[in-house]
Amino acid sequence: MGDLTKNFSRSEFKCRCGAEGISFALVEILQKVRDAVGPMRINSAFRCPYHNNEVGGSPKSSHLIGLAVDIHCDNSLKRYKLISNLIKQGIRRIGIRSDFIHCDMDENKSQDVIWVYETYSPKQPKEKQK
Ligand SMILES: [Zn+2]
Ligand SMILES: [Zn+2]
Repeated sequence: MGDLTKNFSRSEFKCRCGAEGISFALVEILQKVRDAVGPMRINSAFRCPYHNNEVGGSPKSSHLIGLAVDIHCDNSLKRYKLISNLIKQGIRRIGIRSDFIHCDMDENKSQDVIWVYETYSPKQPKEKQK
């Protein structure tokens, strides 16, 4: 049971320091998606500037104004279900990383975009000169 919507609680959308500021409109959209796809875990939602910086978020991140959430997702079936339902519910900005989906309703940024996050991969050790 949630204290925000049927399944979501305020605590899931707080910054790690307890700061709050998530858009309720976004939570309502997530509830509709949740009704369609089942339980989901919110990795990150509202962030204060300090903790946004700490996790490497962009200085203009939509997380700072409570208009974005990262939903844990690390398999292709769930990814398809989540993305198709987010779009169905009107989400027009989506970011994909191997282990989460960033869902964003900031209307002051580009609409109808899906981007991918580059994940860090250590460079192959240089081959020794032969
Ligand atoms: Zn914080
Ligand atoms: Zn995000």
